[in-house]
Amino acid sequence: MNMKCIMVNRIGGFDVMDVPVRMPHADEILIRVEVTGLCRTDLKLIRLGHRDLVLPRIPGEEVVGVVSETGENVKSIKQGDRVYVYPGMWCGGCPSCRAGAENLCRNMQIMGFHRDGGFAQFVTAPAQSVIPVPEGLTAELAVFAEPLSCCLNALELGQVGPGKTVAIWGAGPAGTLLARAAKAMGAETFSIDPDPERRSRIQGHETCPEKTVDVCIVAVGSVDAYQSALSRLGPRGRLVVFSGLHPDADRLSVSFNQLHYHEQTLVGAYGCCYRHGHQALDRIASGSVAVADLISHRMALDDLEKALLMVETRQCRKILLYPDENSPHQTDHLHK
Ligand SMILES: [Zn+2]
Repeated sequence: MNMKCIMVNRIGGFDVMDVPVRMPHADEILIRVEVTGLCRTDLKLIRLGHRDLVLPRIPGEEVVGVVSETGENVKSIKQGDRVYVYPGMWCGGCPSCRAGAENLCRNMQIMGFHRDGGFAQFVTAPAQSVIPVPEGLTAELAVFAEPLSCCLNALELGQVGPGKTVAIWGAGPAGTLLARAAKAMGAETFSIDPDPERRSRIQGHETCPEKTVDVCIVAVGSVDAYQSALSRLGPRGRLVVFSGLHPDADRLSVSFNQLHYHEQTLVGAYGCCYRHGHQALDRIASGSVAVADLISHRMALDDLEKALLMVETRQCRKILLYPDENSPHQTDHLHK
């Protein structure tokens, strides 16, 4: 059996290819991809490469689909189940895994980076990594579990909770999910984005007043945003390093006396753990974090180049890609 896929053979571009479907090993399942989300990381990975990318590779780390085949050892999941795929495959035995931070596993294999991902009609995943989608939740809402999981990891590391004030730099899909999830956790949130239209998309957003906050989360890859976040950090404040910076411009000046006298913390956040997938699906299914209005375009996998250009020029919110020609996507433009 063959399938259509996007293959990155060299950094800078990709090919639409027809390749054999890899059948699942004993502990794996084969998933027919229903929908896959496009994010800025995919743009970076294809155009510039990525620390964790091993070529040639089918990208795609936001995947929801239906189980098509199961390996002989798989008992927890059956054919026909709709599943969300946690993109990590972790060893379970290293110090990070044992500490509950499998996203930092020293043997981590990320779908779409170290192993093939969801920009294809089928994807193979370890049964360990999949989570059944709650009854009644559509594939295109469930696929937000991946970006939302990364936000939940960042909010956990920022120790966001009731009564905390949280300022978020960036009002793109990630910044919006961060703000909504923080609010759902009982925090008071402020969004900082130079674009008023993007800022206004966050329901009930408030512009950050000229004061300090408990938690600053930077969801834009900009040194200026980080510098501004440092200046807004209050006593015992935590600055969450959510967005990576360009490797040639990832240095900024920090006053260690500021950290010392105000007992402030800088904390990195990268990816998400398996448990965040469960939490994210629960929040989406219960409506605690709204995601539907973030979808701006539904496109065919063949239109990836067009989709990447839209991400590059920020002419979109979330773009969902459909690998199956028979899907009801037909490149509609919900929001301009
Ligand atoms: Zn490990």
